[in-house]
Amino acid sequence: MSNIKLTIDGKTLEVVKGTTILAAAQMADIKIPTLCFLKDRSAIGSCRVCVVEVEGMEYPLPACKTVARDGMVVTTSSERLTTYRRIALDLIVSNLSEEAWKVDEASSAADTNNNQLQTLCQEYGIETASFKTAAPPKPKYDSNPFLSFDPNLCIRCQRCVGACNSAARNHTLRTGKKGTRTTISAPFGKNWKSTECESCGNCAQACPTGAIKAKVKLNYQPGEVQTTRTTCPFCGVGCQIDLKTKDGKLVDVEGANGPANKGLLCVKGRYGSYNFVDSNDRIRTPLIKNKQTGEFEVASWDEALTLVTSRLSDIKKQHGGDSIAAFACSRSTNEDVYLFQKMARTVFETNNVDNCARV
Ligand code: SF4
Ligand code: SF4
Repeated sequence: MSNIKLTIDGKTLEVVKGTTILAAAQMADIKIPTLCFLKDRSAIGSCRVCVVEVEGMEYPLPACKTVARDGMVVTTSSERLTTYRRIALDLIVSNLSEEAWKVDEASSAADTNNNQLQTLCQEYGIETASFKTAAPPKPKYDSNPFLSFDPNLCIRCQRCVGACNSAARNHTLRTGKKGTRTTISAPFGKNWKSTECESCGNCAQACPTGAIKAKVKLNYQPGEVQTTRTTCPFCGVGCQIDLKTKDGKLVDVEGANGPANKGLLCVKGRYGSYNFVDSNDRIRTPLIKNKQTGEFEVASWDEALTLVTSRLSDIKKQHGGDSIAAFACSRSTNEDVYLFQKMARTVFETNNVDNCARV
Protein backbone atom coordinates (compact mmCIF):
# COMPACT_ATOMS: atom_id res chain seq x y z
CA MET A 1 0.00 0.00 0.00
CA SER A 2 1.39 3.42 -0.92
CA ASN A 3 2.07 6.25 1.50
CA ILE A 4 1.18 9.92 1.33
CA LYS A 5 2.59 12.98 3.09
CA LEU A 6 0.60 15.69 4.86
CA THR A 7 1.34 18.48 7.30
CA ILE A 8 -0.58 18.86 10.55
CA ASP A 9 0.17 21.92 12.70
CA GLY A 10 3.49 22.35 10.87
CA LYS A 11 4.55 18.72 11.38
CA THR A 12 5.10 16.67 8.21
CA LEU A 13 3.78 13.13 8.50
CA GLU A 14 3.92 10.12 6.25
CA VAL A 15 0.87 7.85 6.51
CA VAL A 16 -0.69 4.99 4.58
CA LYS A 17 -3.10 6.13 1.86
CA GLY A 18 -6.65 6.01 3.22
CA THR A 19 -5.74 7.18 6.74
CA THR A 20 -8.09 9.82 8.15
CA ILE A 21 -6.78 13.18 9.38
CA LEU A 22 -7.75 12.16 12.93
CA ALA A 23 -5.82 8.87 12.77
CA ALA A 24 -2.78 10.66 11.28
CA ALA A 25 -2.87 13.27 14.07
CA GLN A 26 -3.22 10.61 16.76
CA MET A 27 -0.18 8.75 15.38
CA ALA A 28 1.82 11.96 15.81
CA ASP A 29 0.40 12.67 19.30
CA ILE A 30 -1.43 15.76 18.04
CA LYS A 31 -4.64 16.12 20.05
CA ILE A 32 -7.89 16.78 18.20
CA PRO A 33 -10.98 16.78 20.47
CA THR A 34 -13.51 14.03 19.73
CA LEU A 35 -16.88 13.05 21.15
CA CYS A 36 -18.96 10.72 18.96
CA PHE A 37 -15.83 9.04 17.58
CA LEU A 38 -14.45 5.94 19.33
CA LYS A 39 -11.88 3.82 17.51
CA ASP A 40 -13.30 0.50 16.29
CA ARG A 41 -16.70 1.38 17.79
CA SER A 42 -18.20 4.45 16.09
CA ALA A 43 -17.21 6.87 13.34
CA ILE A 44 -20.56 8.35 12.37
CA GLY A 45 -19.10 11.87 12.26
CA SER A 46 -22.19 13.49 13.77
CA CYS A 47 -20.86 15.67 16.59
CA ARG A 48 -18.55 17.96 14.56
CA VAL A 49 -16.30 18.50 17.58
CA CYS A 50 -13.25 17.20 15.70
CA VAL A 51 -13.39 19.84 12.94
CA VAL A 52 -10.04 21.03 11.52
CA GLU A 53 -9.02 23.60 8.93
CA VAL A 54 -7.67 22.25 5.64
CA GLU A 55 -5.77 24.67 3.41
CA GLY A 56 -7.84 25.53 0.32
CA MET A 57 -11.17 24.48 1.87
CA GLU A 58 -13.70 27.16 2.69
CA TYR A 59 -15.20 25.43 5.76
CA PRO A 60 -13.68 23.25 8.50
CA LEU A 61 -13.94 19.48 7.97
CA PRO A 62 -14.51 16.66 10.50
CA ALA A 63 -11.11 15.01 11.08
CA CYS A 64 -12.67 11.60 11.85
CA LYS A 65 -14.40 11.37 8.46
CA THR A 66 -11.90 13.15 6.18
CA VAL A 67 -9.30 11.00 4.48
CA ALA A 68 -5.85 12.61 4.34
CA ARG A 69 -4.58 13.52 0.86
CA ASP A 70 -1.02 13.89 -0.36
CA GLY A 71 0.22 17.45 0.29
CA MET A 72 -2.68 18.36 2.61
CA VAL A 73 -1.97 21.14 5.11
CA VAL A 74 -4.09 20.87 8.26
CA THR A 75 -4.51 23.15 11.27
CA THR A 76 -6.11 21.68 14.40
CA SER A 77 -6.57 24.76 16.59
CA SER A 78 -7.57 28.35 15.80
CA GLU A 79 -10.07 30.92 17.03
CA ARG A 80 -12.43 29.92 14.22
CA LEU A 81 -12.24 26.23 15.16
CA THR A 82 -12.89 27.06 18.81
CA THR A 83 -16.06 28.92 17.74
CA TYR A 84 -17.18 25.98 15.55
CA ARG A 85 -16.58 23.51 18.38
CA ARG A 86 -18.41 25.72 20.91
CA ILE A 87 -21.44 25.92 18.60
CA ALA A 88 -21.34 22.16 18.03
CA LEU A 89 -21.29 21.51 21.78
CA ASP A 90 -23.99 24.12 22.40
CA LEU A 91 -26.26 22.35 19.88
CA ILE A 92 -25.49 18.93 21.36
CA VAL A 93 -26.50 20.01 24.88
CA SER A 94 -29.65 21.79 23.68
CA ASN A 95 -31.98 18.84 24.34
CA LEU A 96 -30.08 17.16 27.16
CA SER A 97 -30.63 17.13 30.88
CA GLU A 98 -28.02 19.44 32.49
CA GLU A 99 -26.75 16.42 34.41
CA ALA A 100 -25.25 15.17 31.13
CA TRP A 101 -22.96 18.10 30.53
CA LYS A 102 -22.86 20.54 33.43
CA VAL A 103 -20.53 19.92 36.34
CA ASP A 104 -22.50 20.57 39.48
CA GLU A 105 -19.79 21.16 42.09
CA ALA A 106 -22.02 19.81 44.87
CA SER A 107 -22.63 16.49 43.14
CA SER A 108 -19.72 16.38 40.70
CA ALA A 109 -18.16 13.38 42.39
CA ALA A 110 -21.23 11.38 41.49
CA ASP A 111 -21.35 11.90 37.77
CA THR A 112 -18.08 12.99 36.26
CA ASN A 113 -16.62 9.51 35.80
CA ASN A 114 -15.31 9.37 32.25
CA ASN A 115 -17.90 11.94 31.20
CA GLN A 116 -16.20 13.28 28.09
CA LEU A 117 -19.08 15.63 27.30
CA GLN A 118 -18.67 17.37 30.65
CA THR A 119 -14.92 17.62 30.15
CA LEU A 120 -15.36 19.20 26.69
CA CYS A 121 -18.06 21.60 27.90
CA GLN A 122 -15.73 22.76 30.67
CA GLU A 123 -12.81 23.09 28.24
CA TYR A 124 -14.87 25.17 25.77
CA GLY A 125 -16.64 27.22 28.43
CA ILE A 126 -20.22 26.03 27.78
CA GLU A 127 -22.16 27.29 30.77
CA THR A 128 -25.69 27.66 29.42
CA ALA A 129 -27.54 25.92 26.61
CA SER A 130 -28.29 28.72 24.11
CA PHE A 131 -30.64 26.62 21.98
CA LYS A 132 -32.48 24.90 24.84
CA THR A 133 -35.55 22.93 23.74
CA ALA A 134 -38.49 22.24 26.01
CA ALA A 135 -38.73 18.49 25.38
CA PRO A 136 -40.37 16.63 28.30
CA PRO A 137 -38.03 14.23 30.18
CA LYS A 138 -38.03 10.63 28.99
CA PRO A 139 -38.30 7.66 31.39
CA LYS A 140 -35.14 5.94 32.58
CA TYR A 141 -34.56 2.19 32.01
CA ASP A 142 -33.33 0.83 35.30
CA SER A 143 -34.42 -2.79 35.87
CA ASN A 144 -31.20 -4.54 34.85
CA PRO A 145 -29.12 -5.24 37.99
CA PHE A 146 -25.88 -4.13 36.32
CA LEU A 147 -26.81 -1.31 33.95
CA SER A 148 -29.17 1.60 33.49
CA PHE A 149 -30.01 3.84 30.52
CA ASP A 150 -31.12 7.44 30.84
CA PRO A 151 -32.20 8.80 27.40
CA ASN A 152 -32.09 12.34 28.82
CA LEU A 153 -28.28 12.08 28.94
CA CYS A 154 -27.90 10.49 25.50
CA ILE A 155 -26.25 12.36 22.59
CA ARG A 156 -27.01 9.51 20.14
CA CYS A 157 -23.36 9.11 19.22
CA GLN A 158 -23.89 5.35 18.72
CA ARG A 159 -20.63 4.43 20.44
CA CYS A 160 -22.66 1.96 22.55
CA VAL A 161 -24.22 0.49 19.40
CA GLY A 162 -20.78 -0.10 17.87
CA ALA A 163 -19.50 -1.61 21.13
CA CYS A 164 -22.45 -4.02 21.40
CA ASN A 165 -23.16 -4.89 17.77
CA SER A 166 -19.84 -4.65 15.91
CA ALA A 167 -17.21 -5.17 18.63
CA ALA A 168 -18.86 -7.56 21.11
CA ARG A 169 -21.14 -8.91 18.36
CA ASN A 170 -24.09 -9.20 20.71
CA HIS A 171 -26.41 -7.24 18.37
CA THR A 172 -28.63 -6.15 21.24
CA LEU A 173 -28.77 -2.38 20.95
CA ARG A 174 -31.04 -0.79 18.36
CA THR A 175 -31.31 2.66 16.83
CA GLY A 176 -34.68 4.04 15.81
CA LYS A 177 -35.74 6.95 13.57
CA LYS A 178 -33.13 9.14 11.84
CA GLY A 179 -31.11 12.36 12.04
CA THR A 180 -31.83 14.57 15.06
CA ARG A 181 -34.71 12.25 16.00
CA THR A 182 -32.49 9.17 16.30
CA THR A 183 -33.31 7.09 19.36
CA ILE A 184 -31.31 4.40 21.16
CA SER A 185 -33.17 1.39 22.44
CA ALA A 186 -31.25 -0.19 25.33
CA PRO A 187 -32.44 -3.46 26.89
CA PHE A 188 -32.38 -2.41 30.55
CA GLY A 189 -36.11 -1.99 31.11
CA LYS A 190 -38.64 -4.36 32.72
CA ASN A 191 -38.24 -7.07 30.08
CA TRP A 192 -34.41 -7.12 30.22
CA LYS A 193 -34.39 -10.82 31.08
CA SER A 194 -36.09 -11.75 27.83
CA THR A 195 -33.54 -9.89 25.68
CA GLU A 196 -30.27 -11.18 24.27
CA CYS A 197 -28.32 -8.71 26.43
CA GLU A 198 -25.44 -10.36 28.30
CA SER A 199 -25.03 -7.43 30.72
CA CYS A 200 -21.38 -7.25 29.66
CA GLY A 201 -21.29 -3.46 30.04
CA ASN A 202 -19.21 -2.85 26.91
CA CYS A 203 -21.84 -0.26 25.95
CA ALA A 204 -21.37 1.58 29.27
CA GLN A 205 -17.60 1.64 28.84
CA ALA A 206 -18.06 3.22 25.40
CA CYS A 207 -20.64 5.83 26.49
CA PRO A 208 -19.15 9.35 26.73
CA THR A 209 -21.95 10.89 28.83
CA GLY A 210 -22.97 8.31 31.43
CA ALA A 211 -26.34 7.77 29.67
CA ILE A 212 -25.61 4.05 29.90
CA LYS A 213 -24.11 3.48 33.29
CA ALA A 214 -22.64 0.52 35.15
CA LYS A 215 -24.36 0.46 38.53
CA VAL A 216 -21.70 -1.31 40.55
CA LYS A 217 -18.81 0.97 39.82
CA LEU A 218 -18.13 3.46 42.58
CA ASN A 219 -17.81 7.21 42.22
CA TYR A 220 -14.47 8.85 41.63
CA GLN A 221 -12.84 11.79 39.89
CA PRO A 222 -10.36 10.86 37.11
CA GLY A 223 -7.35 12.29 39.02
CA GLU A 224 -8.16 10.40 42.23
CA VAL A 225 -7.60 6.85 41.05
CA GLN A 226 -4.64 4.60 40.45
CA THR A 227 -4.86 2.37 37.36
CA THR A 228 -3.36 -1.12 37.43
CA ARG A 229 -3.20 -3.18 34.23
CA THR A 230 -3.67 -6.86 34.98
CA THR A 231 -5.17 -10.10 33.64
CA CYS A 232 -8.81 -10.92 34.37
CA PRO A 233 -9.01 -13.63 37.06
CA PHE A 234 -12.19 -15.31 35.81
CA CYS A 235 -11.08 -17.71 33.07
CA GLY A 236 -8.18 -18.74 30.87
CA VAL A 237 -8.78 -16.34 27.95
CA GLY A 238 -6.40 -13.76 29.42
CA CYS A 239 -8.41 -10.56 28.87
CA GLN A 240 -6.50 -7.47 29.94
CA ILE A 241 -8.25 -5.27 32.48
CA ASP A 242 -7.55 -1.91 34.07
CA LEU A 243 -8.40 -1.90 37.76
CA LYS A 244 -9.08 1.56 39.14
CA THR A 245 -8.46 1.92 42.84
CA LYS A 246 -9.11 4.81 45.18
CA ASP A 247 -7.52 4.72 48.63
CA GLY A 248 -6.78 1.02 48.10
CA LYS A 249 -10.42 0.19 47.25
CA LEU A 250 -11.56 -1.11 43.87
CA VAL A 251 -13.87 1.50 42.29
CA ASP A 252 -13.97 0.58 38.58
CA VAL A 253 -12.99 -2.16 36.13
CA GLU A 254 -12.41 -1.38 32.44
CA GLY A 255 -11.51 -3.62 29.53
CA ALA A 256 -8.00 -2.75 28.30
CA ASN A 257 -6.76 -3.20 24.75
CA GLY A 258 -5.25 -6.68 25.15
CA PRO A 259 -4.63 -9.11 22.27
CA ALA A 260 -7.42 -11.45 23.45
CA ASN A 261 -10.11 -8.89 24.28
CA LYS A 262 -9.43 -5.62 22.37
CA GLY A 263 -10.98 -3.50 25.11
CA LEU A 264 -14.02 -5.76 25.67
CA LEU A 265 -15.03 -7.73 28.77
CA CYS A 266 -17.75 -10.20 29.71
CA VAL A 267 -20.13 -9.76 32.64
CA LYS A 268 -17.88 -11.74 35.03
CA GLY A 269 -14.70 -9.85 34.20
CA ARG A 270 -16.37 -6.46 34.49
CA TYR A 271 -18.41 -6.92 37.66
CA GLY A 272 -17.20 -10.11 39.33
CA SER A 273 -14.19 -8.65 41.13
CA TYR A 274 -15.94 -6.00 43.22
CA ASN A 275 -17.22 -8.36 45.89
CA PHE A 276 -14.44 -10.87 46.29
CA VAL A 277 -11.44 -8.52 46.34
CA ASP A 278 -12.27 -7.12 49.78
CA SER A 279 -14.41 -10.02 51.02
CA ASN A 280 -13.78 -11.22 54.56
CA ASP A 281 -14.22 -14.80 53.29
CA ARG A 282 -11.28 -14.46 50.90
CA ILE A 283 -8.37 -16.78 51.67
CA ARG A 284 -5.25 -14.61 51.66
CA THR A 285 -2.64 -17.06 53.03
CA PRO A 286 -1.96 -20.80 52.63
CA LEU A 287 -3.83 -23.02 55.14
CA ILE A 288 -2.74 -26.44 56.43
CA LYS A 289 -5.20 -28.73 58.18
CA ASN A 290 -4.24 -29.62 61.74
CA LYS A 291 -4.85 -33.38 61.91
CA GLN A 292 -5.52 -33.31 65.63
CA THR A 293 -8.20 -30.64 65.58
CA GLY A 294 -9.35 -31.00 61.99
CA GLU A 295 -9.14 -27.21 61.64
CA PHE A 296 -7.25 -25.32 58.94
CA GLU A 297 -4.41 -23.18 60.29
CA VAL A 298 -2.53 -20.31 58.66
CA ALA A 299 0.82 -21.39 57.19
CA SER A 300 3.65 -19.69 55.31
CA TRP A 301 4.15 -20.33 51.59
CA ASP A 302 7.39 -22.22 52.39
CA GLU A 303 5.58 -24.52 54.83
CA ALA A 304 2.74 -25.16 52.40
CA LEU A 305 4.95 -25.81 49.37
CA THR A 306 7.28 -28.06 51.36
CA LEU A 307 4.30 -30.13 52.57
CA VAL A 308 2.82 -30.45 49.08
CA THR A 309 6.10 -31.40 47.35
CA SER A 310 7.03 -33.96 50.02
CA ARG A 311 3.57 -35.61 49.95
CA LEU A 312 3.49 -35.74 46.14
CA SER A 313 7.05 -37.14 46.05
CA ASP A 314 6.08 -39.84 48.58
CA ILE A 315 2.98 -40.82 46.59
CA LYS A 316 4.95 -40.97 43.33
CA LYS A 317 7.72 -43.09 44.96
CA GLN A 318 5.24 -45.56 46.44
CA HIS A 319 2.63 -45.81 43.68
CA GLY A 320 4.16 -44.30 40.50
CA GLY A 321 3.34 -41.12 38.54
CA ASP A 322 0.02 -42.45 37.24
CA SER A 323 -1.35 -42.43 40.78
CA ILE A 324 -1.34 -38.61 40.57
CA ALA A 325 -3.77 -36.47 38.62
CA ALA A 326 -3.26 -32.79 37.90
CA PHE A 327 -6.46 -30.78 37.78
CA ALA A 328 -6.05 -27.09 36.94
CA CYS A 329 -8.25 -24.28 38.21
CA SER A 330 -10.65 -22.82 35.64
CA ARG A 331 -9.62 -19.35 36.74
CA SER A 332 -5.94 -19.82 35.88
CA THR A 333 -4.69 -18.17 32.72
CA ASN A 334 -4.08 -20.22 29.61
CA GLU A 335 -0.32 -19.78 30.09
CA ASP A 336 -0.42 -20.95 33.74
CA VAL A 337 -2.48 -23.99 32.77
CA TYR A 338 0.01 -24.84 30.01
CA LEU A 339 2.90 -24.72 32.51
CA PHE A 340 0.89 -26.81 34.97
CA GLN A 341 0.30 -29.67 32.50
CA LYS A 342 3.99 -29.46 31.51
CA MET A 343 4.97 -29.91 35.15
CA ALA A 344 2.52 -32.81 35.52
CA ARG A 345 3.91 -34.66 32.51
CA THR A 346 7.61 -34.02 33.11
CA VAL A 347 7.92 -33.85 36.92
CA PHE A 348 5.03 -36.01 38.15
CA GLU A 349 5.36 -38.25 35.07
CA THR A 350 1.63 -38.54 34.56
CA ASN A 351 -0.66 -37.84 31.65
CA ASN A 352 -3.65 -37.49 33.98
CA VAL A 353 -4.18 -33.80 33.32
CA ASP A 354 -7.41 -31.88 33.13
CA ASN A 355 -8.95 -28.46 33.66
CA CYS A 356 -12.42 -27.45 34.79
CA ALA A 357 -12.94 -24.56 32.34
CA ARG A 358 -16.01 -26.01 30.70
CA VAL A 359 -18.82 -24.64 32.79
S1 SF4 B 1 -26.13 5.81 25.27
FE1 SF4 B 1 -24.13 6.83 25.40
S2 SF4 B 1 -22.88 5.80 23.83
FE2 SF4 B 1 -25.03 5.29 23.38
S3 SF4 B 1 -25.68 6.81 21.90
FE3 SF4 B 1 -26.26 7.60 23.93
S4 SF4 B 1 -24.51 8.87 24.57
FE4 SF4 B 1 -23.80 7.61 22.84
S1 SF4 C 1 -24.55 -4.96 28.22
FE1 SF4 C 1 -23.40 -5.92 26.51
S2 SF4 C 1 -24.96 -7.12 25.41
FE2 SF4 C 1 -26.09 -5.71 26.76
S3 SF4 C 1 -26.52 -3.92 25.47
FE3 SF4 C 1 -24.57 -3.48 26.53
S4 SF4 C 1 -22.93 -4.21 25.12
FE4 SF4 C 1 -24.90 -5.09 24.43
